[in-house]
Amino acid sequence: MKYGMIARVENNPDLLLRLLVWLALLSGVLIISFSAYGIYRHSLAVVLNAAEGEALRVGTVMVEQQSLALFSAGEADISLTPAELPRFDLQVRKFLHPFAIVKIKVFSRDGTIVYSTDRNIIGQRVEGNPRLARALNGEVDSHQETKEKLTDLADEHRFNVDVVESYQPVRNNAGEVAGCFEIYMDVTRYREDIFNRVASATLILTIILAAVFCLSFWVVRIGANQLKMLLKQLQQMALTDPLTGVFNRGAVIHRAQEELARIQRRKVTAAGNRIGVIMIDLDHFKNVNDIYGHLAGDEVLREMSRRVTDCLREYDVFGRYGGEEFLAIIPDGDYEVAIAAAERIRQALLQNPFQFEQQEIIVTASFGVTVCGDADEELDTALQRADEALYQAKAEGRNRVVGRG
Ligand code: GH3
Ligand code: MG
Ligand code: MG
Repeated sequence: MKYGMIARVENNPDLLLRLLVWLALLSGVLIISFSAYGIYRHSLAVVLNAAEGEALRVGTVMVEQQSLALFSAGEADISLTPAELPRFDLQVRKFLHPFAIVKIKVFSRDGTIVYSTDRNIIGQRVEGNPRLARALNGEVDSHQETKEKLTDLADEHRFNVDVVESYQPVRNNAGEVAGCFEIYMDVTRYREDIFNRVASATLILTIILAAVFCLSFWVVRIGANQLKMLLKQLQQMALTDPLTGVFNRGAVIHRAQEELARIQRRKVTAAGNRIGVIMIDLDHFKNVNDIYGHLAGDEVLREMSRRVTDCLREYDVFGRYGGEEFLAIIPDGDYEVAIAAAERIRQALLQNPFQFEQQEIIVTASFGVTVCGDADEELDTALQRADEALYQAKAEGRNRVVGRG
């Protein structure tokens, strides 16, 4: 057994299309979200690389220019006397002015801060910082730091910006590492850059996805419409007789059974709660074929179907039962109504001769009429009764209506 949703989708191209739209929207949102995140990560890496590069370049130049001032003549260790500090501080600030550097520290070989733009911490010693230890071993180290990890000391001044923190060793005349610089470069301005990159990439992706989606939707919708049309044609073909365009035998019997079931469900057998069954057979139709040809016979069958349909109400059922035999079902019709309908059809055939290639063909038919609707009565029994009545009409000389109430 198929589950409701799947069965509903399989039988309904419109529902399938709606499901596709939802799936496409969902995958679109997922694709855009994941891509935006990926682009953000990538942009962040690119921008931070650039920021780190810049911090390193500024740091390198500063180390070259300022390191001389850090050494007293002939000394291998960094030393800045309190008297030298103000001059050094001025020089550093002058140098840093054009750059987005928020703080600088100069460490001596043992991790003591000999100078910082944050004056509070001069003279303090930093321990347990592995990056500092690496720099004091001669390695340049640079990366972005979160605000929380930015400070080594409790009384350090904190700042609320994105920062690339880089450590650069300072060497004395003998080439030994005598200490290091720690430079904090503000990279907040890159944030806007990252935002712009993510926004424009996401926008382009959204436009492309929307265009692809609209195009696919358009193609699928054309396909679905064609499918619907074909399905309708197929259903039409399965139900209709190709020559006359009326219901075929299977369809007319099916509709008759539906009507009978509807009447029987009501469990009322009063007049008007039955269905009229009219069996129609063209008289001496073989002669029409023999005299005027098979094509004329076909045209007579078509014209006869048109005339009968015109005689019936919209909710009556009419179909081709066999070669030149037809069946009409009159829902909610009692015996008299069915006889009257058959008589109307007989007259409609008689009224004017049929035309085929300027020839006039007189066509008559015989009618077997009955009603059906009693509880448990099968359609077949009623059809058999109608057939017997039809046989009698033929036997009595044709072109007449015979009923079995
Ligand atoms: P009766 O009055 O006893 O019914 O005589 P009849 O000639 O109508 O009956 P019979 O059963 O002898 O012949 C039916 C003819 O209907 C024979 C067959 O060739 C013709 N026929 C059946 N289907 C078609 C069709 O689709 N097209 C044409 N042109 N003729 C058809
Ligand atoms: Mg016949
Ligand atoms: Mg026949």
